[in-house]
Amino acid sequence: MAIIGVIYRMPELPEVETIRRSLLPLVQGAEIETVQVFLAKAVRPAPAEFAAGLTGRRITGIERRGKYLLFQLDNGQCLTIHLRMAGRLVWQSRTTPLAKHTTLVINFRDGKSLHFVDPRKFGTAVLFPPAAPPAGLTALGLEPLTTEKEKLLAVLEKAAARRSGPVKGLLLDQRVLAGLGNIYADEVLFAAGISPLRPAREVTRAEWEKLYGCMVAILNKALVHRGTSQRDYVDGRGEAGEFQHYLQVYGRKKETCFACGAPLVYVRVAGRGTHYCPTCQK
Ligand SMILES: [Zn+2]
Repeated sequence: MAIIGVIYRMPELPEVETIRRSLLPLVQGAEIETVQVFLAKAVRPAPAEFAAGLTGRRITGIERRGKYLLFQLDNGQCLTIHLRMAGRLVWQSRTTPLAKHTTLVINFRDGKSLHFVDPRKFGTAVLFPPAAPPAGLTALGLEPLTTEKEKLLAVLEKAAARRSGPVKGLLLDQRVLAGLGNIYADEVLFAAGISPLRPAREVTRAEWEKLYGCMVAILNKALVHRGTSQRDYVDGRGEAGEFQHYLQVYGRKKETCFACGAPLVYVRVAGRGTHYCPTCQK
């Protein structure tokens, strides 16, 4: 059944990192008592093996890579969770009733539980040994907030030279840059004054430098405001973010540009709904 009027949006780097930071003090050191899988296709290996592999383990830390969360276990194995389009990962009391669309529950010995709620059912939880990470993880490109600026600029320029498509498609390609999605790609391109429709190979070195600076500034500001919440995203404590109040173009279809007053344009670029200002972005 189609859900009319609900637009889901994938959590991007600021949202996933905010979830990581909110969950870390809650789950670090916690011992897994039981695991309940309600959607077999959401987990790998198969549910029985997945649950057996987690039971009795302690979580020693959480890292993030792109839009993936990586829970480290005390036996060296790793559980990676990708929220995809609409997944939420929320820390609950064991007595909290399961929300609709709960696909996975990890119960801890301290009486708390981690609930994975996923209305679109695209989210995944994969348990793997360090020697055999899933392909999605190994294919990831550089982190946008890497301190290796020159390396990142070289990667962007090289990827752009090989590509005939628009620059926005390059920014969304997780094999090049891991963690940007539709919101932050639109915001970064607006801040950098680059049209999302511009062929990636026509972006100059000076523009890549400007884009890099804008990307770092926007992602860091979004982290300060704990991500962008529209309908679905909340952090690990169930709290919404505030960056939606700072968006310049994303979600402002039919509104005017804050910088120049011109009407913003909404088009599809690289298969995604895209917002930009045709006056400020060239
Ligand atoms: Zn403008």
